[in-house]
Parts: sequence; structure tokens; C-alpha cells
Amino acid sequence: MIEFEALKPQNLKEALAVLKEKGMDIKILAGGTDLLVEINNNSDRLGDFKYLMDISSIKGLDEIENKKEHLIIGALCTHTQISESELIKRNFPILIRAAKTIGSTQIRNRGTIGGNINNGSPAADLITPLIALKGSVILKSKNKKRELPLQDFITGPYKTDRKEDEIMTKIKIPKITSDYQSSFQKVKRRQAVAIARINLAVVTDIKKKRFNDIRVVFGSATPTAIRFLKIEKRLKQAHINELDLESIAEQTGQEMVEITGERWSTPYKKPVVGNLLIRALQEIIREVQ
Ligand SMILES: Cc1cc2nc3c(=O)[nH]c(=O)nc-3n(C[C@H](O)[C@H](O)[C@H](O)COP(=O)(O)OP(=O)(O)OC[C@H]3O[C@@H](n4cnc5c(N)ncnc54)[C@H](O)[C@@H]3O)c2cc1C
Repeated sequence: MIEFEALKPQNLKEALAVLKEKGMDIKILAGGTDLLVEINNNSDRLGDFKYLMDISSIKGLDEIENKKEHLIIGALCTHTQISESELIKRNFPILIRAAKTIGSTQIRNRGTIGGNINNGSPAADLITPLIALKGSVILKSKNKKRELPLQDFITGPYKTDRKEDEIMTKIKIPKITSDYQSSFQKVKRRQAVAIARINLAVVTDIKKKRFNDIRVVFGSATPTAIRFLKIEKRLKQAHINELDLESIAEQTGQEMVEITGERWSTPYKKPVVGNLLIRALQEIIREVQ
């Protein structure tokens, strides 16, 4: 059994001071829907730690702010809060669609966006759309604040660039114009309470019936969620009524294999990524026609 001491700082300042002092021995707890499962399973990923620091009641980290050029989502915002936010619905409906697929009502009520990102799972359902939206993360330590693109923050499966003395406080997403359309797709083993086998976020604007700034991000198809740049390049400026769907699907599968190499899951995932992209593109095209 893992033994640890529980800490419950009253505010962010106190939490950051404790992290500065004991960072390497601390695990941060937000909603606990990933971390408590790992503790219960005695997961190898946990490593050694002496303290569990519960940040869930720190004030100010669960707000959604509307700035002129960005939307800022507090790291402690739960999936339910995201699903119910009018601001997010108006600006980034793809995030609502993704958040609504997460776990069950109970999981969505506890699980946070910060936890979803920091857990660093290749299958995390918010990471994929957030990368497609060019989101960045804000990390604070006692004496420093830094911001980096989410794509750079995730450094490997279950690995991030977070330093021991940092807390993720906010996620920042640049606003997009109303020309932008999006689609979130998720394949899972069963319909309810299931982690993604593969997920996909497509965000694009369409100008004169051609895809323009198209971003295609797959989760769980590659070791970390990433943009598929070759297929993006092919689709940029492609006319929405003149797509060779079969060949786009084939190329998407090929791009995945170029990144991952042949693996046991390749025969399954290769056609699925292609078909998912086609499904997403068709959904977007239906919206604009
Ligand atoms: C039954 C079940 C179903 C699930 N289904 C899905 C699903 O469909 N899709 C999906 O994506 N996920 C799913 N999950 C995983 C989980 O619910 C989400 O990843 C959730 O968002 C994690 O958030 P949390 O607040 O509970 O994180 P926690 O468990 O509290 O923390 C997770 C990790 O993030 C770190 N952390 C948390 N917040 C911060 C912060 N602000 N700063 C720095 N580090 C931080 C913690 O130290 C820990 O390493 C499921 C989990 C369960 C148990």
C-alpha cells in the first residue's frame, strides 16, 4: 500500500510555496479521477512521493474568462462546467462535444481540464481538440509564470514538461472567426464510459468552398496527440466538392504508419484513422452546404 501525507493549501500562493519546498515529493490532486485510480492500482507511473496535495478547492482556478482575443479556461474547470459553458459553446463547440464524451456524469463532475492535460494520456479527449485549436498552457511556480503551446507541453505518453514546482493554472485558446468549422470523432470499445481507442479533432475555415487553415489532430493513433501535417498540406486549398475520399483515407493511414512504424495495432488503426477523417470532413462539409 502506498503511504502519503495529505496537504490541502488554502490558496495558490500557499500551494506554490509548498511546491517550491517539497516539489519532488509531491503529487498534485485535482479531481482525482486519474490519480486516485493510479494510486489504487499502485501504478508504476507514479514513482515515489510522500505528499498528496489537494488543489481542488483553490479559488480562482475554475473560471472561464472571455478576453478580446482569447478564451481562458481555469485548470480546475470540470468537464461538466465546460460542457455547460455558453462562452465555450459560442467560441469552441468542439470542446463541448469532446467533454461530453468523457467518462460518466460522475467523472465529468470531478475530472478537470488540467487533470486531463497533465495526466498526458495519448487518449485524453480534451488534448486533441485543444491542440487543433492551438491552445497553450500557463504554468506558475513561486517566482515565475510561463506559457507554452500545449503541443510542446506534452513530451511523450504520460510525460509533460511540467517542472516539480509548477501548477498549471490556465489554458489559453485563441479565438477563431465564425468561418471556422470543427468536428470531434471518437472510437471506443463500447458506447458508455470508455476511453478512446482513437480520437480526432478537425478544425478548419473554408474559403470559397476550399479548406484553408485546416488542422487535423489524432489522439491515441500515435504516441502523443499530434497534427498530421502531410494530410493537412494535401487538404489545404482542396475544394470541398472535389475530394478523392478513398485516397485521402489511404494517405492518412500511411502518415500514421510513417510516425509509429508497423505495430500490433496497425491493421486495425490504419483504416480507422482514414475513415474517421473522412467522417469528420463530411460532417464539416454538410454544415457549410
Ligand atoms: C471511469 C473513468 C472513465 C474515464 N473516461 C475518460 C474519457 O472518456 N476520456 C478522457 O479523456 N479521460 C477519461 N478518464 C480520465 C480522467 O477522468 C480525465 O483525464 C480527467 O480529466 C482527469 O482530471 P482530474 O482532475 O480527475 O485529474 P487528477 O486525477 O486529479 O490528476 C491527473 C494528473 O494531472 C495532475 N494535475 C492535475 N491538475 C493539475 C494542475 N492544475 N497542475 C499540474 N498538475 C495537475 C495530477 O498530479 C495527475 O498527475 C476516465 C477516468 C475514469 C476513472
